[in-house]
Amino acid sequence: MRMYDIIARKRDGLELGDEEIKYFIKGFTEGSIPDYQAAALLMAIYFNGMNDRETTTLTLAMADSGDKIDLSSVGGITVDKHSTGGVGDKTSLIVAPCVAALGFKVAKMSGRGLGHTGGTVDKLDSIPGYRTSLDKKEFLKNVKDIGIALVGQTGNLAPADKKIYALRDVTATVGCLPLIVSSIMSKKLAAGSHNILLDVKVGTGSFTPLLKDARKLARKMVDVGKLSGRNISALITDMDVPLGNAIGNSMEIVEACEVLQNKGPKDLTDICIALASNMVRLCNNKPYAECRKMVLGTFEDGSAYNKFKELVSRQGGDTRYLDDPALFKKAIYTFPVKAKKTGYIYSMDTAAIGEVSLILGAGREKKEDKIDYEAGIYIWHKTSDHVKRGDVLATFYTNRINVLDEAHRIYTNAVTISEQPPKSLKLVYQLVR
Ligand code: URA
Repeated sequence: MRMYDIIARKRDGLELGDEEIKYFIKGFTEGSIPDYQAAALLMAIYFNGMNDRETTTLTLAMADSGDKIDLSSVGGITVDKHSTGGVGDKTSLIVAPCVAALGFKVAKMSGRGLGHTGGTVDKLDSIPGYRTSLDKKEFLKNVKDIGIALVGQTGNLAPADKKIYALRDVTATVGCLPLIVSSIMSKKLAAGSHNILLDVKVGTGSFTPLLKDARKLARKMVDVGKLSGRNISALITDMDVPLGNAIGNSMEIVEACEVLQNKGPKDLTDICIALASNMVRLCNNKPYAECRKMVLGTFEDGSAYNKFKELVSRQGGDTRYLDDPALFKKAIYTFPVKAKKTGYIYSMDTAAIGEVSLILGAGREKKEDKIDYEAGIYIWHKTSDHVKRGDVLATFYTNRINVLDEAHRIYTNAVTISEQPPKSLKLVYQLVR
C-alpha cells in the first residue's frame, strides 16, 4: 500500500477501504507518513468527504491509535463532555466542576485552540502553575479523589488525533464533518467515560453554520458513540453570537469564575445550566427539571466554584488568581472599537471575531506559535443590543501594536448595525439522542 495512492483515490472522489484508512492512521501516528502527505489527504477529505463507513473506521482507528483509559478504578458514575468549538466557549470550565460537585466523576481531556475557536487547555494554561499534562496514574487518582481531572491530550491517548488536530489547525481543514466526528469521538472513546454529552455548536462562529449540518454532525457522533456502547447525547446550541463577553485565555478564566459564582453573563450561564443538566440526566436518568434544580444548587451554594478551585489547586494552579482576577498580567495595549452608527446590532460574524482574537495574539497561526494569554477582546454589546454612534462595542487587549488597524477593520465589518432589531435569539436548539 502507498500513501500516494490513498491520497489520489480520495482526491478523485473515491471511497477509501478500511485497510487504507488504518494504514494512514498507523503510518501517520508512527511518523512514517510525513505531514505533507497527511495534509494532502486531509484536504482531499475536506473537499470530497467520507461516507458513514469511512467516518466510523477513521474514528475507531484513531481511538485505537494509542492507550485507552480504563476508568473502572475511579468508582462512581463517569461523565464527559465535549464541544465542537466556538468563540468565547468556556463552558467546560464551568460545567465540569459543577457536575463533579454533584458527585459524578468527570475525567476530561480537552483540546487546544483550533482555527478561529479557542481551546480549554490553552485557557487553563493561562493560570500560573496549572499542569494540563498529567500521567495516567495521576489523572486517575485525581478523578478518584476529588471527582475531576481536566487535562490536555496527554500521554498516548488518541495520538493520531493529536497530530491530525495540529495539522488541521494550520491547513484550513477544520470545518469538515468526518474530521470533526473522528477527532472528537476518538478522544471521547479513548478517555473511557460511559456517559458523554456533546455540545454541537451552530451558527457563524461554529464549524457548522447551518442547522442541517449541525444535526448531521450530532447524529453521526451519537451513532458512533452508541456503536461503542456509550450512553451519549448531543445538545445543539447557538454559536451565532460569541458566548459571554470575554474572548481570550486568561479573560475567559475570569469570566468562567464569575459564572461559577453566579454572577456571570446570562447567555453563558443559561447554556451552562442546559449542558450540565443534560450531563446529570445522562448519569442519573431523572427528569430534566430535577437535574436542573441540582445544577442550580451548585452555583447557589458555592460548591461548583469550590470544586473548580479544588481542581486548579490539585493540578498545581495558583488559586489566588481565581479569587482575585486583578493578579492576571494585563496586555500592554487596550483599544476601543466604536459603533459607526446608531441602531440595533443585527448580526455578528462570530468566526471573524474569533479571527480578530487570534490576530491580537490569543491563538496560533502556525503549529509552533506561542499563545499570548493576556490578549483578547471584551465585548460590551452583542446581537440585539441598541447602540448609539460612538458607543464602545468592544475593547481589544494586545501586546502587538502593529495588528490594531487590521483587527479594528475586521471587527467593524463583522458587526452589522441596522435600524430594525433581529429576530429573538435561540440559545438551545435541540437534543439529539
Ligand atoms: N473539537 C475537537 O476536538 N475536534 C474538532 O475537530 C473540533 C472540535
